[in-house]
Amino acid sequence: MADTFIDEMEELLTTMRKELLEKMSDDNSDFKSMVNAMGGKDSVDIAADDIAFKKMEAINKHEANRLRSIDNALSRIHNGKYGLCLKCQKKIPEERLRAIPYSVLCVDCKLAEEKPGRR
Ligand SMILES: [Zn+2]
Repeated sequence: MADTFIDEMEELLTTMRKELLEKMSDDNSDFKSMVNAMGGKDSVDIAADDIAFKKMEAINKHEANRLRSIDNALSRIHNGKYGLCLKCQKKIPEERLRAIPYSVLCVDCKLAEEKPGRR
């Protein structure tokens, strides 16, 4: 996969992460004070911190999970595994990553996960 594509996705994910934190801070004053207590939006590493993540999950589960997915994708960029399916290790198509930059599963594995049990 081309490095320029990874760079582009990293930038996109970083922006998404920042916007998500801003949105959550604006929506919820508890969250805002938590972020401020941790040193502000730019330095905060909520998804890597289990206690903070639990608090955040209590405030907004959906956004908390999204933030964690974004962080996972960023750490996969840093260890060179971005764009590879977590389950089958196949490459995730660029179109899919452009649509959802934090996807960690290819379409087949994602569908298999959403429909547990018999195929
Ligand atoms: Zn897969």
